[in-house]
Amino acid sequence: MIIILLGAPGSGKGTQAAMIAKKFSIPAISTGEVLRSEVAKGSDLGTLIKATMGSGALIGDDMMIRIIKSRIDSADCSNGFVLDGFPRTVSQARYLDELMFNSGRTISAVFNFNIKEDDLINRICGRFFCKKCGALYNSFFRRTKVDGICDNCGSDSFQKREDDGSEEAVKNRLKNYRETTSELIGFYQKKNLLVSVDALQSPPLIFQGIVNYLTN
Ligand code: AMP
Repeated sequence: MIIILLGAPGSGKGTQAAMIAKKFSIPAISTGEVLRSEVAKGSDLGTLIKATMGSGALIGDDMMIRIIKSRIDSADCSNGFVLDGFPRTVSQARYLDELMFNSGRTISAVFNFNIKEDDLINRICGRFFCKKCGALYNSFFRRTKVDGICDNCGSDSFQKREDDGSEEAVKNRLKNYRETTSELIGFYQKKNLLVSVDALQSPPLIFQGIVNYLTN
């Protein structure tokens, strides 16, 4: 099962990727996460991409293609995977097609998370996560049950993503998304793979729709 989640930052792809991965026992691959961990480690790659990521701009296709190939070639991806944040451009999508073709695999579905841009700014700027277990919260929509304590693991240590902090960087990310996405949507529409998702629905309802689609 190979699933692609398309959607603007903050549209809820990450939450659904984790739920789908658990349900179908396949890894969720978030290219944003992979890149953020390189920055956190301070690796050569991390140092190279830190400023670009901080500004909300996209990382070059060549580098992204190298990263995704090595991740998809890993043994844990042999039964499939969920992609969150890749492809972001048509050339990345073409490359992914080539990789799939060469390994005799096909993409099962591409879910496109639809949500208005106005609704996204608060959603993104309010995001924070537990430093210990990674559970995701939002100061506007999904606060912890007890103030300052993670519902999941009880930790009192939280963090924001560096590129979620400033409204300017968030707007830049949304602009980049808008500019590249329509072409990408057209690309998958022509292949009859695109499934539209109303991203304003609750996460369990969205998940149910996705599972129904994949299992019917
Ligand atoms: P995300 O967590 O998906 O919002 O990604 C965070 C940042 O990582 C983006 O703003 C880009 O700088 C970079 N990034 C993630 N995935 C890609 C990709 N497929 N192509 C280019 N840049 C990416």
